[in-house]
Amino acid sequence: MDIKQGFVGAVGNTPLIRINSFSDETGCEILGKAEFLNPGGSVKDRAALYIIKDAEEKGLLKPGGTVVEGTAGNTGIGLTHICNARGYKCLIIIPETQSQEKIDLLRTLGAEVRTVPAVPYKDPNNYVRLSGRIAAEMENAIWANQFENLANRRAHYETTGPEIWTQTGGKLNAWVASTGTGGTYAGVSTFLKEQNPEVKCILADPMGSGLYSYVKTGEIHLEGSSVTEGIGNSRITANMAGAPADDAMRVDDREALRVVYQLLRKDGLYMGGSTGINVGAAIALAKQMGPGHTIVTLLCDRGSLYQSKLFNREWLESKGLLLDEF
Ligand code: PMP
Repeated sequence: MDIKQGFVGAVGNTPLIRINSFSDETGCEILGKAEFLNPGGSVKDRAALYIIKDAEEKGLLKPGGTVVEGTAGNTGIGLTHICNARGYKCLIIIPETQSQEKIDLLRTLGAEVRTVPAVPYKDPNNYVRLSGRIAAEMENAIWANQFENLANRRAHYETTGPEIWTQTGGKLNAWVASTGTGGTYAGVSTFLKEQNPEVKCILADPMGSGLYSYVKTGEIHLEGSSVTEGIGNSRITANMAGAPADDAMRVDDREALRVVYQLLRKDGLYMGGSTGINVGAAIALAKQMGPGHTIVTLLCDRGSLYQSKLFNREWLESKGLLLDEF
């Protein structure tokens, strides 16, 4: 018998998938941790579960309580599923620039959703800071605070990292992933380095994010922009602080989209933009390291969350991203 206990029991233990087309092209084993197969559809189910369990264990979240969060979408989706399964309410603050699919899904799941203008973190009305203030003013509510709450990173240190280690039999040369809160990258990197310091941990970054320059030079420097969602940052969060990083790779949107379309057309994998950045960085790393290496990355969420953008010719054209091969 192998029965999962409800939604919560079905989080994690995702397969590690060989990405055949890019593995064959590069001569490296490029492996994707299939986080889109979590029951809420993304890598963020793990963090959502750990954050809620942590608040329950500390007695902060009580029956009938509300979980408040500022999110690019996926954390909110994970939280809302778990709130439904555990008898809590969910209030989500999301920048209006995020895909309509994620906003609609959150409402369908039963979250109260407030869309807000996308403003930088230094602005008090930034979605993350706003969500903290709203939570503080509410009765019987907690702020999930995924960027600074270390339960997020712990989820990946205790589950994603060990799963990758076991699934590869410890035979991996590199781990590469982009980061939003830093939870996934930092938790997995820390765990893998403890098992074998020779495993290279490489941070992948979209344009417009300051993490690439931070790893390269120690300074945050913002340059360009990206249509990807849920990744990149202009600050070092508590979850990211101290994470091992041997190097960083930057992938632009054209390359990320080329990768996303090849994943769909040649590998049958229908993925979102952050996965394009991750696999794009894994390909660049494979070329740098040479054939014969095993590189693990993350397949974060499904393309269906971005259908009206990344898979819509008019939208791509409006962003100057309509490539010949589409
Ligand atoms: N990809 C997507 C689509 C995401 O929503 C997120 C989380 N915002 C990430 C990657 C990055 O995950 P993390 O927050 O653990 O760095």
